[in-house]
Amino acid sequence: MNSSQSGQATLCVPDLKGKVILITGGSTGIGAAAARAFGRNGAKVALNYNASGAEAERVSDGIKASGGEAVLIQGDVTQPDASARITAEAVRAFGRIDVLVNNAGALVRRTPVDQYTDEFVDAVLDLNVKQVVRFIRDVSIQMRKQGSGGSIINVSSIAARHGGGPGSVIYAAAKGFIATATRGWAKELVKDRIRVNAVSPGVIDTPFHERYSTAEQLAAMQATIPMNRIGTSEECVGAFLYLASEELSGYVTGQIMEVNGGQYMP
Ligand code: NAD
Repeated sequence: MNSSQSGQATLCVPDLKGKVILITGGSTGIGAAAARAFGRNGAKVALNYNASGAEAERVSDGIKASGGEAVLIQGDVTQPDASARITAEAVRAFGRIDVLVNNAGALVRRTPVDQYTDEFVDAVLDLNVKQVVRFIRDVSIQMRKQGSGGSIINVSSIAARHGGGPGSVIYAAAKGFIATATRGWAKELVKDRIRVNAVSPGVIDTPFHERYSTAEQLAAMQATIPMNRIGTSEECVGAFLYLASEELSGYVTGQIMEVNGGQYMP
């Protein structure tokens, strides 16, 4: 096991120092690992969380202890007014936003076709599509006002490429929307020097699979991964740091970075 599998990656990205990063759903899993890594690089992290207040406090304490700054912003991102309020609170705390990480998302529940309801489809699309669209709108308006460009990092999924596992088609399609829209937003916002990319995790060991996947389902997924193991949140961190950094990825936009142990090769 290497350091990024087991613990905290020590990647050092100098141009992230002092940058303001807004992360949605940042109290657990991949978002929390990215938030801590931005903190270790001296960034100012506006961390949105919904239900996991204690976990959010721990992430915030870790960021501060490692030399970054953090402010916690509670809010259910599916509420229509949440993105405007959370964006405004991040700007009130740190004066600007340089990087947006649209991380909040979930499968909601595994549901076969014959059990679809409008309520279920709305819930998946509200969380994985509509709130992302609102954050793109509100944060890009803010970045345009600042006039110095920015980086937006969406979170798609390997499910967008293969259609999802059992009962997760609507979630997979929602993540496909994010991948497609990432390419379109990249072209539309390039005139404002805003780069838009996505990280597409494979099977990553987070509370996501604790909620939605059985041990048997995880074993079946693992069998399809050339590296023959499930990834960790820390192993996703490098992709976020890279895409956030103007120095490292200033000529990169409209890309979907697959972090999946070789499970899917575009
Ligand atoms: P996670 O459950 O730990 O993280 C999701 C975060 O989103 C949580 O902190 C949760 O509280 C937050 N969230 C959910 N609903 C919210 C709401 N209404 N308002 C605000 N926050 C909300 O799981 P994760 O695996 O770290 O997921 C992070 C992202 O990665 C998600 O977009 C997920 O779809 C995506 N993803 C995960 C995997 C995986 O294998 N774990 C694979 C592909 C994509």
